[in-house]
Amino acid sequence: MQHHLWTTLGRPALVVSVAALLAACANMPGESASAALQRANTAMGGTALKSISFAGNGTGATFGQAYLAGQAWPRITYSTFSRVADYENAAFREDAARSRAEPNGGGAVPLMGTGEQRTSGFMRGASAWNMVGPTPVAAPVAYDMRVHDLWTTPHGVIKAALANNATATMRTVDGKTFTAVSFSVPGRYRATALINAAGMVEQIESTQPHPVSGDTASVIRFSDYKDTGGVKFPMRIQQSMGGYPVLDLTVSDVKPNAPAGIEVPALVTAFAENVVASKVADGVWHLAGGSHNSVAIEMKDHIMVVESPLYDGRALPMLAEAKKLSPGKPIRFVVNSHHHFDHSGGLRSAVAEGATLVTSELARPFFQTTMANPNSIKPDAMQKSGKKAVITGVSGKRSFTDGARVVDVYYIEGSVHADGFLMVHLPKEKLLIEADAYTPGAPNAPAPAVPNALHVNLVQNIERLKLGVDQILPLHGRVVPVSELYAAIGKKM
Ligand SMILES: [Zn+2]
Repeated sequence: MQHHLWTTLGRPALVVSVAALLAACANMPGESASAALQRANTAMGGTALKSISFAGNGTGATFGQAYLAGQAWPRITYSTFSRVADYENAAFREDAARSRAEPNGGGAVPLMGTGEQRTSGFMRGASAWNMVGPTPVAAPVAYDMRVHDLWTTPHGVIKAALANNATATMRTVDGKTFTAVSFSVPGRYRATALINAAGMVEQIESTQPHPVSGDTASVIRFSDYKDTGGVKFPMRIQQSMGGYPVLDLTVSDVKPNAPAGIEVPALVTAFAENVVASKVADGVWHLAGGSHNSVAIEMKDHIMVVESPLYDGRALPMLAEAKKLSPGKPIRFVVNSHHHFDHSGGLRSAVAEGATLVTSELARPFFQTTMANPNSIKPDAMQKSGKKAVITGVSGKRSFTDGARVVDVYYIEGSVHADGFLMVHLPKEKLLIEADAYTPGAPNAPAPAVPNALHVNLVQNIERLKLGVDQILPLHGRVVPVSELYAAIGKKM
């Protein structure tokens, strides 16, 4: 460290010999972004690095799946966790084996104590997908996060900063001086990397677009750097996202320049959002065709939609289909089953349509906050519309009617999935609309030996409220007679 040079020589004298000093000086107060990035690239062995894979274990959290809106993300345990970052092809892969570390909250993780789940997620070019068993399934809603995760790896952030006109400032944290290198990739993310005196990236502060939370902040910390064949990589990676922890990984294996072999499957290239409407009763349509369904209900002078999920890419064609089915009527209300991000990712799209959001009173303050957030990095329909969200809450029960049809919105009490969990009942049509409490299995599948606690809880709520139900319109899966739910828990109706 030769910080004293600054005080003895002063800035004007240094200007003429910057290049010479850069080679000698470990961490130069006032160094340019490109000097800092070249210093880090050399120190971290990133210059010839085309790809890297790393693996380990630790803890994580299911981002967006809080039990109660606004709380920390539910904790999970990763018995294995690995990522492949292919910088040359802008491709990314993440594999994990995960289980719940706490009983409450959402996500597709098996219920507490019922086992571990393997996940495989990919991104390349303009595509994101998951492997579900042997089948690739397009996952467009995961795309932005995987782009972010690729370019916020320790070497990835240097490569991205070098390619995107980064600027530099000095920052002192706990007496330690860093060069803070900032850059922005329009439509994707913004990031600031803190490069220490040894040329290691110690921290990345980033912002990425999100369909629910808008511009969403992450802080990623890298520590305990080790050398693998001339490439330095941190043995510990900790990340928070949206204000709460999402990852604390202990890395045990690093493979620089391992072949990545990530190719977009043909099934994924061919993917397009598809809204398939089926009429369930007069003026009631189940809108399926993707991973998340919605229901359109025609009222006298408007439309109610139950659920606007995922992101604009799903929600906008779904809302357009609802309007096509009830020509000339506006979508006045969108009911949100619960605050989990996959189920609320299209609420901003519904605001752009002019709909009032109906959510649980428990989640209303959370949405009041997120809806006021800009989505400035990748402007969505709501951001472009300039509209402000109108949000109304449900406590216990709320009825909507046009004088003829009645639509009742109820709390599902006592579920481990979410607090402020809503279901919708049409008493005259005897229809029940619910998300995540019950997703029908394959037709004629035998009932599980141990009933699913969420299914049992849903039946308890139907019976507590004495709801007349003929059919269930799930927000995942197919429309079924209520007898299938009872059969799934081995209970007589
Ligand atoms: Zn959920």
